[in-house]
Amino acid sequence: MSHKVTLIPGDGIGPEVTLATRRCIDATGVTIEWQEALAGQPALEASGELLPKATLDSIKKNKVAIKGPIITPIGSGFRSVNVALRHALDLSVCLRPAKTIAGVAAPHKNVDIIVLRENSEDLYAGIEFFQGEEVTDKLISQISAASGQEIRKDSAISIKPISISATRHISRFAFELARKESRKKVTCVHKANIMKATDGLWLHTFKEVAKEYPDIEAGDIIVDNLCMQLVTRPQNFDILVLQNLYGDIISDLCAGLVGGLGVAPGANIGDEYAVFEPVHGSAPKYTGKNKVNPTATILSGVLMLKHLGYTREACCLEKAVEEVIAEGKAVTYDLKADRDDPAAVGTSQMADAIIKKIKSH
Ligand code: NAD
Repeated sequence: MSHKVTLIPGDGIGPEVTLATRRCIDATGVTIEWQEALAGQPALEASGELLPKATLDSIKKNKVAIKGPIITPIGSGFRSVNVALRHALDLSVCLRPAKTIAGVAAPHKNVDIIVLRENSEDLYAGIEFFQGEEVTDKLISQISAASGQEIRKDSAISIKPISISATRHISRFAFELARKESRKKVTCVHKANIMKATDGLWLHTFKEVAKEYPDIEAGDIIVDNLCMQLVTRPQNFDILVLQNLYGDIISDLCAGLVGGLGVAPGANIGDEYAVFEPVHGSAPKYTGKNKVNPTATILSGVLMLKHLGYTREACCLEKAVEEVIAEGKAVTYDLKADRDDPAAVGTSQMADAIIKKIKSH
């Protein structure tokens, strides 16, 4: 059986890490037909659009994509290709495992957390009102009239929608994942003590869903307490379920617990489509330098192979990555004890070493 997969190199370091990933996946022997599609800077240059329709169409046809990171301009009118992609394809669950890898210097050992981030709502829904615009002034007046609550007239406003349906969806996803992967506990993260409307609804809905899964332990924790506990006792956590903004921040924190962005994979999963990508961004200063660690994108490829049902190949690739890292020789600068170690290899050489391991299995 063969699969067609959309490959989006992205920009910045994206093309280098996705090429390394493609080569490693091909080396496992799977028959994937790659269909390259542009997004980000290369797409803008080629077609005048950051996220061309042809790219969305390709993912819709193939159902599965792997993508490199894409630069998001700060403060300009355009939100983010990544956010736009998640919305357009209804990729409402973002899955980010943070697992200890032997040989990676990290502040903790034996960490094995899956961060599940709700992708479609919260302050990332893009319902934003800029300071000084007429619509913002109107909204401020309307809120004052409706609730009696005053918002300073020189404010900007971002709206935080949290729905029962989206919360139910990610909560069920979490418990189903726990069952599928024989995990023990699902923890709902919130700030319901302060945001009683939105986070209160989020927590209440999670607890309702938890009743459907008596075989899985369910817990909840306030997000600031979670931060403290993650840096002191991360081994206490299993699957975490978070809203969009908390999830964005906590998944980077969890990446740091196991050695940093260079080794943190991710997946955006909807009912119909799935897009696999590393947690890290496009690290523009390293563009074209053959310098950065391809592991995060390769491990995103492992998640993709599992999603496609290539379990054996996924395990083989994961094992090869772990072996290369454990040996500590053919690894990029960020995996060396001394970041200036001249023995560090480049992105493509690390991929070569992984491919060699795959062939030796
Ligand atoms: P970043 O993740 O791109 O880089 C931060 C630092 O982390 C880098 O300078 C580098 O030191 C390190 N790093 C990142 N990836 C690495 C790798 N593979 N190997 C070794 N070291 C690595 O974060 P940033 O600088 O905040 O963001 C740069 C751009 O990427 C921004 O425009 C941001 O919006 C965008 N971004 C995109 C995505 C995405 O496409 N999904 C995700 C996050 C950030």
